[in-house]
Amino acid sequence: MEWDGILKATGRERFARLRQALRDRRSAAADALSAEYSSCGSKWKGRYECGSPGCPDCRRRMGSREGARAVRAFTGADNEDLGLLTLVHAATLDVEEIGDLQRKSHDVMRKRIGTLRSPCSPFNGFAANGWFEVDAVSAEHMAYLFPQRRQLLEELAIPLRYSDPTWIVTSHSIVYLNGMPLAEVKKSLSTMWELPSQMDLRGLRDWNRVEDNLEGIAGYATKFCCTVELKADVEGGKVFMPWPMNWEADLCAWMNSYQRDTRELLRFSIGQARVPVEPASVPLIEPMPFTWSIS
Ligand SMILES: [Zn+2]
Repeated sequence: MEWDGILKATGRERFARLRQALRDRRSAAADALSAEYSSCGSKWKGRYECGSPGCPDCRRRMGSREGARAVRAFTGADNEDLGLLTLVHAATLDVEEIGDLQRKSHDVMRKRIGTLRSPCSPFNGFAANGWFEVDAVSAEHMAYLFPQRRQLLEELAIPLRYSDPTWIVTSHSIVYLNGMPLAEVKKSLSTMWELPSQMDLRGLRDWNRVEDNLEGIAGYATKFCCTVELKADVEGGKVFMPWPMNWEADLCAWMNSYQRDTRELLRFSIGQARVPVEPASVPLIEPMPFTWSIS
């Protein structure tokens, strides 16, 4: 494993290593992605945005645009109307299978939430706007994972190999609760994603503005950080171990060849939040007096 040096690499250094790893791959998919990176910020008199997975500039822009999109989707909602739903769906050793797993996971979410809907149930107005994330582990990480995470991966019976990545399809969604208490929604969802810590639903930070919360979640869900979270020797401490560069190169090259627009690949929604609009208030400012004449 090529951990040495990667731990201390900055974003720019890591991107340079990613580009080198893509060149080393010598595959058509890796070459196509390298060409995209080269054109980002240079084509169209410098205005071209490649939107490719792994491009640090485009990732930053994507995070803020997805944040703005989430704010628009939930306009009028307050923190208590919303929640953050995280689900761990499925895993594969084959990078080419990730797209299929994402599609199936989205279908499963839609169907399971659909079974809760009925004309009189508040679940009828439940909606989710989310993003898929791809995590990765290999067999040597298992002993160093946090116990809950290790137990979940064992219960999901994910395939594992030494040195090779197992890709874990996860999703983070902002959900509109449609007036239901968070605990009640959590109980209903936990009957469907029943493994311990497979599903997490939590409220938004009530001390933040709702817009800041939504932008924060969108940034977090689209961060694409390519690390494995491990236990540190210190009690409660954690270490974010960067993936080997060839893992990141393989995932980015696959994503780029599967769907050119990273946002379209990762983003999904279930239902549409219909946040009640407050009646327009009477304007407090008097109209300006009519002070001129045509004559
Ligand atoms: Zn770019």
